[in-house]
Amino acid sequence: MPRRCRPVHLSDPFPLPEPKPVAGCDVCAALAKQREAARVSGDLTTVIDSNIEMRRHPHGKAVRT
Ligand SMILES: [Zn+2]
Repeated sequence: MPRRCRPVHLSDPFPLPEPKPVAGCDVCAALAKQREAARVSGDLTTVIDSNIEMRRHPHGKAVRT
């Protein structure tokens, strides 16, 4: 049986799943907001940048307040 590797009917232009903002993280909250605003205005570069930032900034460590 031949295998089809092509995605079908994808309306989302991004191949990677978008990171979800972490609850309680101000950085994530700000990035999520920025990402949505950018998506609405069609600014895909900012959408992608926001995703990268959201993945890259550290989580899981104790946050100093
Ligand atoms: Zn975060």
